Amino acid sequence: MAMSLGQAGRVLVKPLRVVLQPPALLFNRSYTAIAEARAVLNGELESIRTAGTWKSERIISSKQGPHINVDGSRILNFCANNYLGLSSHPEVVQAGIDALKSYGAGLSSVRFICGTQDLHKNLEKKLAEFHEREDCILYASCFDANAGLFEVLLGPEDAVLSDELNHASIIDGIRLCRAKRLRYKHLDLRDLESKLKESQSSRMRLVVTDGVFSMDGDVAPLVGICDLAEQYGAMVFIDECHATGFLGPRGRGTDELLGVMERVDIVNSTLGKALGGAAGGYTVGPKPLIDLLRQRSRPYLFSNSLPPPVVGCATRAVELLLASSDIAHTMSAKTMRFRNKMTEAGFTISGSAHPICPVMLGDARLASLIADDMLKLGVYVIGFSFPVVPKGKARIRVQISVAHTDDDIDHCVDAFVQTARKHGVVS
Ligand code: PLP
Repeated sequence: MAMSLGQAGRVLVKPLRVVLQPPALLFNRSYTAIAEARAVLNGELESIRTAGTWKSERIISSKQGPHINVDGSRILNFCANNYLGLSSHPEVVQAGIDALKSYGAGLSSVRFICGTQDLHKNLEKKLAEFHEREDCILYASCFDANAGLFEVLLGPEDAVLSDELNHASIIDGIRLCRAKRLRYKHLDLRDLESKLKESQSSRMRLVVTDGVFSMDGDVAPLVGICDLAEQYGAMVFIDECHATGFLGPRGRGTDELLGVMERVDIVNSTLGKALGGAAGGYTVGPKPLIDLLRQRSRPYLFSNSLPPPVVGCATRAVELLLASSDIAHTMSAKTMRFRNKMTEAGFTISGSAHPICPVMLGDARLASLIADDMLKLGVYVIGFSFPVVPKGKARIRVQISVAHTDDDIDHCVDAFVQTARKHGVVS
């Protein structure tokens, strides 16, 4: 049926002329197509199970925090990115409630149509201030911020030089842009230099790296990267998802930790980890770049505005960090307590001084057995194996939070010693 307004404003309903296929034929066709698709999908699912890389999800029935309820038990949680414990901080939660009450659940719009509230502008201003950059643009996630940046900034006459272990969202974002792509070996300044030489003729060059790599907790050599970028006339971009809020003397991130805040041009980060843990991402950098992203960045232009409660929570989290560096300092003390105790007990912990503490075990099955046994002792940790990490480098990734007490950390170490002894990993 097609509808139109008649002269008196009444709705006129006209019969539509459509050629309908006999119902049985329609049914058979779609049935066959979906049956074929089901077979293909089930084959894929089976191959994931067979490869031992199936990712199952534990159902949490409480707030995120150091202690969570899973399957009716209260367990100690060491695998969230809740670095500063702000996910359920009372002031952060209250700010979300206040924003919900004053500004509603959501905007039902993208930013440029009718989806920008003073709340969004205020958070962008605070994030730019926090990172000491000219301007900031919010996205629904950092995945979106990474997906939306490179295509806008770089064209076919430009080049992007990317660490081979950068986060998946960076890899996808770079795939969307038309710049020449060069991958340099992980953290390898010599290889980066050779790629900078190779791309000398490009109009603009951008070196792209995670500030901290989430699988190893290793930190990008930003001083060397910035030196090379300066020498060869390139810009520097860092993804600070695992650094914002707690690395560096004031928690500004890897660039502050390594003393290169003025030398890193563009920073992307998330609101979904240390900054309250709700959701959202952003880019901070030069104003003309941020202005252009508002005009052209597809995940920004074609996706809904961040919901007010999410913005409210993140704003309070940033305000807490702007007001005091104490939380960031506590983070480093807790991290070192875990790392030192585990090393003394005979474990190898990858990375240095970062709250991502990968307990290296090598064998994938061993990592998964130890993680299961730890859960039986009430400690929730996750084993990572190939293809998430290289073959033979399976590990259990422990993430420390400011919200963990010293007792929580000691309990986790004890559980590791007990289970690892059982499996002959430590004596
Ligand atoms: N970049 C890095 C390094 C990450 O670890 C993540 C999240 O896992 C993202 C980007 C994506 O962040 P978000 O969860 O805000 O999309």
